[in-house]
Amino acid sequence: MKILKRILLFVLATVLALSGSVAYKTATFASKQTAIDTLPTMPIEQQSVDNFCKALQYKTISFGDSTLFDPKPFSQLIDYLQRTYPRTHATLKREIVNQYSLLYTWQGTDANLKPIILMGHTDVVPIDETTRNQWKADPFGGQIQNDTIWGRGAVDDKINVIAVLEATERLVKEGYQPKRTIYLSFGHDEEIGGKKGAKKIVEKLQQQNVKAEFILDEGGLLMDGLIPDKVAALIGTAEKGYLSVEITATDKGGHSSTPPAGTAIDLLTQSIVTLRNTPFVPHFTQPLNDFMRYAGPEMSLFQRMAFANKWLFSPLIVKTYSAQGKTNAMIRTTGVATILDAGFKENVIPAQAKAVVNFRILPEETSETTLSYIKTLLTDPRISIKQLGIINEPSKVSSVDGVGYKTVEKTIKQVVPNTVVAPFLLPGATDSRHFEGITESTYRHIPARLLGYHDINERISVPDYKRCIAFYYQFIKNANP
Ligand SMILES: [Zn+2]
Repeated sequence: MKILKRILLFVLATVLALSGSVAYKTATFASKQTAIDTLPTMPIEQQSVDNFCKALQYKTISFGDSTLFDPKPFSQLIDYLQRTYPRTHATLKREIVNQYSLLYTWQGTDANLKPIILMGHTDVVPIDETTRNQWKADPFGGQIQNDTIWGRGAVDDKINVIAVLEATERLVKEGYQPKRTIYLSFGHDEEIGGKKGAKKIVEKLQQQNVKAEFILDEGGLLMDGLIPDKVAALIGTAEKGYLSVEITATDKGGHSSTPPAGTAIDLLTQSIVTLRNTPFVPHFTQPLNDFMRYAGPEMSLFQRMAFANKWLFSPLIVKTYSAQGKTNAMIRTTGVATILDAGFKENVIPAQAKAVVNFRILPEETSETTLSYIKTLLTDPRISIKQLGIINEPSKVSSVDGVGYKTVEKTIKQVVPNTVVAPFLLPGATDSRHFEGITESTYRHIPARLLGYHDINERISVPDYKRCIAFYYQFIKNANP
């Protein structure tokens, strides 16, 4: 009995010590939010809204199939920007790069300060014809309904291009001169990799030996519901890598009236299922740890407790994050089959079946580690694995302590009331990855809410659009104190 009592006492003491430690860590999980006052809302005229609506009418579409490329709307948009923003075009140097991309240089007054780069892209993704009838407005009409601007590019990414130009036009009009040189980089093929646009702009800047203090591109947005009673503003401090592989299964073909035990199609589909059922090992990378440090203290009690005590709760965090696509992408490299190709006749068993699987690679991993993991899973000699086309390694992780992050953070707080600003990992890719050679610090954010993009009914509220203009206006001033 004595021994049992001792064991019980020991267990009780351990539980008390653990819960004491958890409670202490939760209570002392200090906020990392800086107290910055929101500025009065900047008045923006209707003309600025109309300018954006018109820009959405140009069908500057990037197609996967390059033969469908129509250059005319791209040239027309360039002319339109020149007509609409005359002061900017008179003051900043504009270069047309590789026919359709744009690089503006706003010369700073202090040559000792490193320049900054504001980025955006003029191209948009096509409309999926099978879902066209679900659009509640013409995707290239630039219409306003219910105080909301509808159309392709409303969020991705003409918003950046137009809001930046609206801000510079206003600043030039006010006689503002930046101390740092400011580059505006607007690529025309971001949606298909940026090789002809952003990459060429970078080459131009590299020829001039430009090293940027920091870069601001699209990526993070405003989110409601993540933090109780607050708006979360997420700044992408890193983005995942990109790798597609073609998996080919080869077996004997034959007649479908006498099917063998296994076929190429069976083998391929089993391989896909194996890949899906054996997810990559999860881990907490720096951008996720940064997210937890910045967002965690502002969250509801349970999440706060979990994030403050990762040593105890990480299995639970992994389990919860794994359950949903968006959060799962934050903790592991992911892969999903996107194209299947097999068979040519209904009564013939094909000898070959192919699939394209697209992987998004977590920082701290590489395309090589991803590929070798796939090879450990798919060992059947009838399976071959081939890398396809574009490979992007994950981006570097930008610091949350430097002047770049602080400038973005401060500007968000000035223009968006009641925010929690936090760094995060962007699962998608942006043109900014081409700029890694000329900066250590890349941030991805626009202060707008996501109401649908890439799919149907892409749109932005008029107040969010106006706020984006105020954001860039203030951002340029903050970057030039
Ligand atoms: Zn984009």
